[in-house]
Formats: sequence, C-alpha cells, structure tokens
Amino acid sequence: MTVAVVGGGIIGLSIAWRLVSRGADVTIFDDGVDGAWNVAAGMLAPGGEAAFETPALVGLMKASAERWPSFASSLGVDVGYDEAGTLGLAVTADDVASASREWSTPPLRPSELRELEPALSPRVRAGVYLPADRQVDPRLVVAALRDRLADRIVAKRVSTLDEVDATTIVVAAGCGTAALTGLPVRPVKGQVLRLRGEPGLIRHVLEATVDGRSVYIVPRADGEIVVGATQEERSDWTVTAGGVYDLLRAAVELVPDLAECALAETLVGHRPGTPDNAPLLGVLREGVLVAAGHFRNGVLLAPVTADLIADLALGGPADPMLDDFAPGRFA
Ligand SMILES: Cc1cc2nc3c(=O)[nH]c(=O)nc-3n(C[C@H](O)[C@H](O)[C@H](O)COP(=O)(O)OP(=O)(O)OC[C@H]3O[C@@H](n4cnc5c(N)ncnc54)[C@H](O)[C@@H]3O)c2cc1C
Repeated sequence: MTVAVVGGGIIGLSIAWRLVSRGADVTIFDDGVDGAWNVAAGMLAPGGEAAFETPALVGLMKASAERWPSFASSLGVDVGYDEAGTLGLAVTADDVASASREWSTPPLRPSELRELEPALSPRVRAGVYLPADRQVDPRLVVAALRDRLADRIVAKRVSTLDEVDATTIVVAAGCGTAALTGLPVRPVKGQVLRLRGEPGLIRHVLEATVDGRSVYIVPRADGEIVVGATQEERSDWTVTAGGVYDLLRAAVELVPDLAECALAETLVGHRPGTPDNAPLLGVLREGVLVAAGHFRNGVLLAPVTADLIADLALGGPADPMLDDFAPGRFA
C-alpha cells in the first residue's frame, strides 16, 4: 500500500510524518513555493480563538493543543514550543468593553499585568492571562519535518490528481487545494512583520485590542518578534504601507520599546479559508482524502489532523471528531 501526500506544508508534512512513524510507504509532492506556514506566527490558541469558532472546531483545537507537547518532542529537535502562555490585553476603555466580552476569567489590574510583562505600556488598562494559549515556531517545525522526511519529498507541482500514482492520495495543498479538487478553499491575505530585539524583552504572547484594532506580538527565544496580522479578502502579494503602519502603530502603543527593534522582514501569506472557516478533513472519493482549509489555525491543528487523517489513510474507521468537517459539506 502506498500513500501520496500532495502539498508539503505544515499539514501535509505532519500527516506524512505520522504515516511514516506507523510504517507506511509515503511520498510527498511539493512545488517548493513557501506556504502559509512560512508567515504564520505559530500561536497555539484554543482559548483566544474560541470566541470566533463553532463548538466542534473549538473541540478539535483543544484536542490538537493537548497533542502539541508530544508532537513537538517526537521531532527530536527544538521547534520553539513554549508554554509561557498568552496575555489578552486591551488599551482604551472601548477596547476593554469589546475585548472583555471574550474573556472568561476576571481581568487583571494594570500593575499585575506589568509584573508579568514589564515592557507593557502604561496605557494598557486591563487584560487576562491565558496559560493554555501557547506558541511554536512554524519555520522550525517545517524544517524539522523536512529533515526527517527528506528522502520522501519530491519537488513537483501536481496539476491534476491523475498524475499521482498511489493506493491513497491525501490532498493537503493549502490554498492550492481548490485547483486540484474543486473544493471551496480561498486565499485570505495576511501581512506580518518580523522584528529583532533583545531576547527576553517580551515574555508572553500578547494578543491585544489597541484603539479598536487587533494585533498580536509573538516573542521567540532568540529575540525575533512576530507582529501580525492583517486579514484581507485578497490574493495579492503586496506588502502595503497602510498594513505595515497599522501593525507597527498598534505594536508600539502596546510595547513602546519595540520602536528600537530592527524591522527584519515584511511578509504576506494566504490563509486557506473555507465558507464556514473550518477545515475540510476526510474522504473526497475512493482513494482520495483531503486535509485542507485550516484558515487561521493550521499550525495549532497540525497534530490532530495528522492523527485523524493517518488513521483514515491506513484503512481505519473515521474518528467521530471528523463528523463536522466532511470535505463535501458545501456541495
Ligand atoms: C498571516 C498568517 C498568520 C497565521 N498565524 C497562525 C497562527 O498563529 N497559528 C496557527 O495555528 N495558524 C496560523 N496561520 C494559519 C496557518 O499558517 C495555515 O492554516 C497553515 O499553514 C495551513 O497549512 P497547509 O499545510 O494546509 O498549507 P500551507 O502551509 O500553505 O502549505 C501548502 C503547501 O502545499 C504546496 N502546494 C500547493 N499546491 C500544490 C500543488 N498543486 N502541487 C504541489 N504542492 C503544492 C505549497 O507550495 C505549500 O508548500 C496563519 C496564516 C497566516 C497567513
């Protein structure tokens, strides 16, 4: 029995890794174009994102968050999995009013917040600590997976599934899935900045509402700081002056010392979105499985997707967790 995975982004590689560790004969086809994983901040946020998603998707996110520690350690190298947690923050009184609707614990006082995060601006009025919302570095995860799977990756753009010869094909091509399957996966543009500063300047992931705008700041151990992200119904690759300005203004409002950091990268990525913002997971037709459309949460959802899709590819029964994510649900 052979399995071909089309798409070597974080989802395709995670599925392939799980299949290989269960003894399957796997080939991965990837066109070498960096996917959304290269831009993603790597927030693993089942709590912070819960307000935006359906109960079934929140359940899937929580199940995947629980699997991240063992998934990360299975890779055998440091992939930046960090358990410091997240601070959800609000700056103005209006920001507190809107953000606190999503907070499930009583807000901390500004002095308590600054004890946890000394670099915060005195303008920050309120916030909560979300210990279960963590982070990983998606670039390190993909590098580790590519390293482990190097002899199974074929550099090739697949134009039609008829080109692929395998007992089972898994389509995990992110935004490329629509062209291969006709399924409704659309690109949702996100602009992101990478700054470089003193390691330890910021200790937690910060997710904030600043003057009505959402911004997040993800500090890595080596001093890299990811600031994101715009969300635009567009498919172009332009980094816009307005996008950079909005992100930097909100980030510096939150942590004034960020103004001293180097601006190392400005990036665009495309989240693979679906009509209900939930992924497409399961059987498309005999011999063809789909794992795509992970939208804002593909890094978080990689471990659970890998487990559930590997089970199916190896002929196991469909896990009930898949019921709400059938690829054909929009037909
Ligand atoms: C700005 C931004 C911030 C984000 N932040 C987060 C976050 O903090 N946390 C989180 O969980 N998620 C986040 N995401 C979402 C996450 O990046 C995606 O959900 C995830 O990358 C989807 O994984 P994927 O493997 O399906 O697609 P991708 O990562 O896009 O990979 C798809 C791969 O398939 C290849 N491919 C496509 N078509 C073909 C073809 N025909 N033949 C061969 N290869 C093909 C591509 O080249 C690519 O390598 C963010 C995304 C963006 C854009």
